[in-house]
Amino acid sequence: MPKNSKGIEVAKILPEKCIGCQICVAECPVGAIEMSNGAAVIDPEVCIGCGKCFEVCPVEAVKFEKKRSPKKIRKPEEVAQYARDNYRGVAVFIESFNGQGATVSWELIGKARQLAEKLNTRVIGFLLGYEVNDSAREAIAYGCDEVHVIDDPLLRTYISKPYGKALTDLCKKVKPEIFLIGATPLGRDLAGIVATNLETGLTADCTGLDIEEEKNLLLMTRPTFGGNIMATIFCEHHRPQMSTVRPRVFKTPEKNPARNGNIYCHVLEPPHDKLPELIDFIKDVVSGDGVDISRFPALVVAGKGACDLETMPLLEELANLVGGIVACSRPVVEAGLMPYDRQVGQTGKTVAPKLYLGIGVSGAVQHLVGMQGSEKIIAVNADPKAPIFNVADVGIIGDYKKVVPVLIEELKKRKLRN
Ligand SMILES: Cc1cc2nc3c(=O)[nH]c(=O)nc-3n(C[C@H](O)[C@H](O)[C@H](O)COP(=O)(O)OP(=O)(O)OC[C@H]3O[C@@H](n4cnc5c(N)ncnc54)[C@H](O)[C@@H]3O)c2cc1C
Ligand code: SF4
Ligand code: SF4
Repeated sequence: MPKNSKGIEVAKILPEKCIGCQICVAECPVGAIEMSNGAAVIDPEVCIGCGKCFEVCPVEAVKFEKKRSPKKIRKPEEVAQYARDNYRGVAVFIESFNGQGATVSWELIGKARQLAEKLNTRVIGFLLGYEVNDSAREAIAYGCDEVHVIDDPLLRTYISKPYGKALTDLCKKVKPEIFLIGATPLGRDLAGIVATNLETGLTADCTGLDIEEEKNLLLMTRPTFGGNIMATIFCEHHRPQMSTVRPRVFKTPEKNPARNGNIYCHVLEPPHDKLPELIDFIKDVVSGDGVDISRFPALVVAGKGACDLETMPLLEELANLVGGIVACSRPVVEAGLMPYDRQVGQTGKTVAPKLYLGIGVSGAVQHLVGMQGSEKIIAVNADPKAPIFNVADVGIIGDYKKVVPVLIEELKKRKLRN
């Protein structure tokens, strides 16, 4: 293969074969080809060796033999073997703000432990920030076997570029086979950057994670088609298998401060390009009534079947008696009876209270994905076939107008007794 003075392998025209069609002249991206005496001639000093002329010539009059590495599509068995040999561990991104780890990170560590046990591997934490050692120790207490930390003043505040690069670098060094990130505003941004950098797949907002037994693939379940069906997605050809999960989908594991684990410190290699400068923060804007329903241990959830103004004080009284607050399904928000902050479900909040009390809630899948992690589910519904009864621990079939006053009465009596 001839080379030019820059060492680039260049194409060569075979004049005896050339029919002078000029297709290559039109296709050459750098104008390296001219016609001379009815045949094409390549200027080797201009040619960049792209091979386009070779591809388009209809009569094979271009000699071009540059060895190209064909894009190899690997068979699933090969991928599985490669993944087993080169990638190990279930990693979780530990989101930390002002030195405090986000609850969703601990929830994901709990899930990561279950997945790691099935895979017989370790749980890895990735932690970025400034002065975040306490969060590293906490991550071990919640179940990480090792935590990889980049602690640098540049990571004090979240900026996509340094965080994206730092986390990509950690993934390249540690090579986890699975990587879980909380679907918080920060996590959603970061997960997309890292998945793009690593050229792997990302399944967002998963509501279920498990391991497929045959090939040990991560099964990532999430609602799709407007939440009407649940899709289980897996990532066969790329590593790590990445997923984001919304807060409170999984339970927070027990914290054990006596647990042992290793903390590895890495140095930040800052991105080469100029970073944006932070001028100021927009202050927190409180929307709706500012109540975070996901923090309450008990929720009395009003559905469309209990959606009228007179009912609300009754439900509030019930909520007070069980130490909780009133939340609702989407139609109640749409009817203007409650603010959006109180909506439970796919497009509302994901909640996992100790007690979920659904009053006139049918149990549509878009609602269920936001509350199925609740510890005890009690449903009151007039329709015995309502799907909410499939997930309820206790189901009360009847008109809520009759059932709720009885519940209130009984709870009051019990309180008096105690
Ligand atoms: C993309 C998308 C996202 C969505 N996101 C959400 C979401 O985040 N959250 C959400 O909640 N929904 C969401 N929905 C809407 C969801 O599909 C359902 O329409 C909604 O959850 C139904 O609310 P509901 O159970 O209160 O009302 P309905 O389905 O109308 O059920 C009312 C229930 O009340 C019962 N009832 C009626 N009268 C009485 C009575 N007197 N006593 C006792 N029971 C009674 C009925 O038997 C019925 O089961 C979404 C839909 C889509 C397409
Ligand atoms: S190899 Fe590419 S750059 Fe060189 S002559 Fe052919 S089309 Fe032009
Ligand atoms: S495309 Fe082939 S035949 Fe046509 S001018 Fe170029 S070298 Fe000659």
